[in-house]
Amino acid sequence: MAPNASDDAPIIRGDDVVKEYETGGQLVRALKGVDFGIAPADFVAVVGPSGSGKSTLLNLLGLLDVPTRGDVRLRGTDVATLSDRERTNTRKDTIGFVFQSFYLIPTLTAVENVEMPRMLDRTPKRTRERATDLLERVGLGDRLDHYPDELSGGQKQRVAIARSLVNDPDILLADEPTGNLDRDTGDRILDLFDEFRAEEDVAVVTVTHDAYVADAADRVVNLIDGEVRPADEAAAEGST
Ligand code: ADP
Ligand code: MG
Repeated sequence: MAPNASDDAPIIRGDDVVKEYETGGQLVRALKGVDFGIAPADFVAVVGPSGSGKSTLLNLLGLLDVPTRGDVRLRGTDVATLSDRERTNTRKDTIGFVFQSFYLIPTLTAVENVEMPRMLDRTPKRTRERATDLLERVGLGDRLDHYPDELSGGQKQRVAIARSLVNDPDILLADEPTGNLDRDTGDRILDLFDEFRAEEDVAVVTVTHDAYVADAADRVVNLIDGEVRPADEAAAEGST
């Protein structure tokens, strides 16, 4: 993919995005003016030391928060102009989330966990079909009725990926999705990202500390102290 692939028709873009937090009279500048653009089927890895603003960036991309200054636009709409309710609905239609710790509900089976985000939709038949199809595609067609504690770590993460896709999102946001998995299992997760990017055009943005995940991405965003830095500079700072 061309390095500037995200320049044309991005799903979401940010211009000079600043995010500040104020706690106890202290101002923390978590993002100091970053630009980003995520195009359909992009695969972007966000790397950087602890405290550099990775989660803050993911929260903005996931419409969980709005910038202090600068614009975040989702298909042209400034997210700061949306009400909380509009933002919640837009998030549900647009964004899927995957986390390091899976966050499956222990009392629900695999297929019920995948159905969770659609529970209030009152379309149980279609929801069951979509959930079953997704679990088959992640290789768990024979584990539909298993509970999370009957599944391996890699299987749990595959259930979580199926769940993240149940509402046909445009972007999948993943925070350390391979952090609790061995290399082979992590590779399987990367294969799934590739499949869903190709088959559903879903973009993947992942925070990662795993070099093999960053190597597999189309682009790497290096965050240092709230700013995007070139890769070599980031590597130099990271080693001090
Ligand atoms: P990373 O995910 O790269 O570790 P974060 O985005 O979580 O970094 O944090 C960036 C900076 O913003 C840190 O200095 C952190 O302490 C601060 N920060 C993050 N969230 C909050 C918050 N809700 N309130 C105050 N400070 C925060
Ligand atoms: Mg973080």
